Amino acid sequence: MAAEDRLRTYRGKRDFGRTREPSGQAPAAGGDRPRFVVQIHDARRMHFDFRLQVDDVLKSWSVPKGPSGDPADKRLAVPTEDHPLEYEDFEGTIPKGEYGGGTVIVWDRGTYEPLSHDRRGRPVDFAESLERGHATFRLHGTKLHGEYALTRFRGGSDEEDAWLLVRKGPARSAGHGTPDPRRARSVRTGRTLAQAAADAGQG
Ligand code: MN
Repeated sequence: MAAEDRLRTYRGKRDFGRTREPSGQAPAAGGDRPRFVVQIHDARRMHFDFRLQVDDVLKSWSVPKGPSGDPADKRLAVPTEDHPLEYEDFEGTIPKGEYGGGTVIVWDRGTYEPLSHDRRGRPVDFAESLERGHATFRLHGTKLHGEYALTRFRGGSDEEDAWLLVRKGPARSAGHGTPDPRRARSVRTGRTLAQAAADAGQG
């Protein structure tokens, strides 16, 4: 599907005269490896947004507690609409009353390696593995490193899907367990949510 069509839901929810989020018109940036970004979003309910580049969009999940470095933590991840690739740069405050109103910071980002294999150990197309409801990948971020899996455990239609985001392999050192969203800093600007919100207020 072309990005134009895949972003219809994203665009339909937003008034780009009011929010400074990207509309997704910029051409896709080239790169050898697909990108990922984790944003913290202080909306009606605080959550993390976990996004993986698949072709020309960012497949997205809302993760209330955020990713954990502990393989014992199974983090609920609820799919949201595909976002444009430029969204990985988005940081700022979405006006109150608009869709997703609240402040966003870029908590971590980088590239990832798709790791999905079939039962015989052969690589499987990543987009296809997501459609089937189970994908594994290795993150190369500033904060997040290593292997993770996303697994659908409920639903099958976009509206009611529920997934789990789980760290695979050995647990990371302390501090990589559960990020505290109010103390966490942007990997892009070093700001906390409060600082980003204050800057937006002055702008
Ligand atoms: Mn969000």
